[in-house]
Amino acid sequence: MIDEKGILFVLSGPSGVGKGTVRKSLFDRATDLKYSISMTTRSIREGEKEGTDYFYKTKQEFEDLIKKNRLLEYAEYVGNYYGTPRDYVEETLDHGKDVFLEIEVQGALQVKENFPQGVFIFLFPPSLEELKNRIINRGTESEELVKNRLIAAKTEIEMMDAYDYVVVNDEIETAVQKIQSIVQSEHCKRERV
Ligand code: 5GP
Repeated sequence: MIDEKGILFVLSGPSGVGKGTVRKSLFDRATDLKYSISMTTRSIREGEKEGTDYFYKTKQEFEDLIKKNRLLEYAEYVGNYYGTPRDYVEETLDHGKDVFLEIEVQGALQVKENFPQGVFIFLFPPSLEELKNRIINRGTESEELVKNRLIAAKTEIEMMDAYDYVVVNDEIETAVQKIQSIVQSEHCKRERV
């Protein structure tokens, strides 16, 4: 017999570590995981689609969702709100499907309070030097902002102990394979005869 509820997987880690790239690469392959599309107040970027990348909300709409307790977690990140829709996650898990979140660290810690049975994966940079290079190479950020992001990243890295798994992202393919192995092993853990 297999546990009937789905498993909640949470991928998190410091800014610049490559969470988005790893998640996209994971979902480019065949997977039974259901990606929870987040809500955000940030502007839509070129190439993004409403309902595929995010559900784009006004600040007012987002704050209404907070008040109505419709978010499983939310965080303010670089001046914008980001949050996970509670109904989608709970209903999908109740239907026996696994849900995958890709969120920043403050949000992941909130999820852990509500869903301690979730599986928390921390994506770790190969080194702080490499993380700095990745943040700089995004190209759009001032020296001051890069410095602030690095300070934030150091604090985020201190939260690593709260996670079940650490995956070093030095190579995307390897990181994705490790996440797939974690998903498999968590299913084996829950299988009971
Ligand atoms: P971006 O604006 O680059 O798409 O995302 C910025 C950050 O927000 C990333 O670290 C991403 O993982 C995080 N993020 C995306 N969705 C959510 C969410 O629903 N909740 C939280 N807490 N963070 C999110």
